[in-house]
Amino acid sequence: MNIKDHIRSVPDFPKPGILFYDISTLLAHADAWQVAMGRLARDVRRFQPDVLAGIESRGFLVAAPLALKLGCGFVMLRKKGKLPGKTVRHEYALEYGTDTIEIQHDAITEGQRVVVLDDLLATGGTMTAGIELLRKIGAEVTGSASIIELSFLPGRQRLKELGVPFTSLAAYD
Ligand code: AMP
Repeated sequence: MNIKDHIRSVPDFPKPGILFYDISTLLAHADAWQVAMGRLARDVRRFQPDVLAGIESRGFLVAAPLALKLGCGFVMLRKKGKLPGKTVRHEYALEYGTDTIEIQHDAITEGQRVVVLDDLLATGGTMTAGIELLRKIGAEVTGSASIIELSFLPGRQRLKELGVPFTSLAAYD
């Protein structure tokens, strides 16, 4: 089964010139989603995680079922102001301006092995921010993964420079 057959691409969304890879069609297809999660579970297991971290919001859709499959915990990396209680923040650069992600300060125990998940890796800015935030609270980030990878962008290279292995199910160039 080719995962790409179940991913819809939408031109000029959310703005002109962007080809948006939409996983809604994959999520809606029970068999294809089962296969995708099975393959990702096999690949992510190699990183021997204790915990999976999902990046808001489509990263949650990937990390939560995978955590159940692997018998891991699941934690949320959220946009600023969404999590209750004491949190730790990380601000990172966007093309224009900055963004901030947050995690609850006690979401990870010092030294736990964590794998970060998102739906798609493009420039790697979001995944890098997730890794840096997790490191801030003492996690050992042993890997990163997504359903889709845009291999004409330097995302994978950025993660390599951080010393974090990366795997994806479908690469587009
Ligand atoms: P980046 O930080 O550049 O690696 O972008 C990755 C983040 O932006 C992920 O959370 C994706 O959900 C989203 N994203 C970036 N480019 C696309 C795209 N072409 N199609 C769908 N989502 C995208």
